[in-house]
Amino acid sequence: MRWRPLFFLVLGLICLGCFFVFKEYKIFIGKKFSAKTQIVSPTATDSITPTASPSATPTPKPLTFAEMNKLYGPCVSLPVLMYHHVELPENAATFKRTYLNVPPETFKKQMEYLNSKGYSSVTPFDLVNYFDNGVKLPSKPVMITFDDGYVDIGDLAFPIMRELGIKGTVFIPTGLMENIDYLTWAKIDDMKASGLINFGNHTWSHKNVGGTTSVVENEITIADTQLSDRGLNNPKIFAYPFGLETKQGIIILKKMGYQLAFTTVYGRTQCEKKRFDLPRIRIGNASLSSYGL
Ligand SMILES: [Zn+2]
Repeated sequence: MRWRPLFFLVLGLICLGCFFVFKEYKIFIGKKFSAKTQIVSPTATDSITPTASPSATPTPKPLTFAEMNKLYGPCVSLPVLMYHHVELPENAATFKRTYLNVPPETFKKQMEYLNSKGYSSVTPFDLVNYFDNGVKLPSKPVMITFDDGYVDIGDLAFPIMRELGIKGTVFIPTGLMENIDYLTWAKIDDMKASGLINFGNHTWSHKNVGGTTSVVENEITIADTQLSDRGLNNPKIFAYPFGLETKQGIIILKKMGYQLAFTTVYGRTQCEKKRFDLPRIRIGNASLSSYGL
């Protein structure tokens, strides 16, 4: 009578074994079946799961005006044109800076084009007033800016702007003024007195704002003092040398009461929450219509 429990134990083990074998077989069949389905039609999970392949990543779309306005507003569509030299082509060629130059003849045509298309030139003050007080800009606003304060801006661009009544802003590395090829302070005063030209901070020696805090602070502060001493610092505005925008640069500018800072990044939507990150449009020798104006 002792063999009975042993018999049932063995029988039980055999049944358990059979159960697992059957279960494995079912999984195997299932796998085969699902593998077949995947080949025919990929499941939704396959298409959602991100892959490491860069081709699967969609190209990011630039934000629309409405999206920018919601995130960083109030925003206004204001093309800020960026120039460096406006000098005779042969002069630009001699100094190998044709890429930075728009010849005076072309510049004049571009300014005439703005007038003929009904654009109104605005100043940085107008943009600050829009950001801070909601004062609307004219219906087709445009801002003309020149970086570096080269002598030709005073000699050749300024007379064209005065003739056509167009306002502009020159960002100057103050320590370089009075050098050969740069504006003199007398000329700067003369341009300012016309009521058409504003000036802004472009550091003292045209250093980028990526250096140590003390260097960046010095560069901005000296230029700030030199502009203020000459009554040229209202409102306080800045353009990043070499287009390099940094967090510490922004901190220093804010601390010193700056209102706007311009980059060299392409764009025309100017937003209040991005007032230290304002885009511009670099202008070359083509007609302004080719820049979307
Ligand atoms: Zn510059």
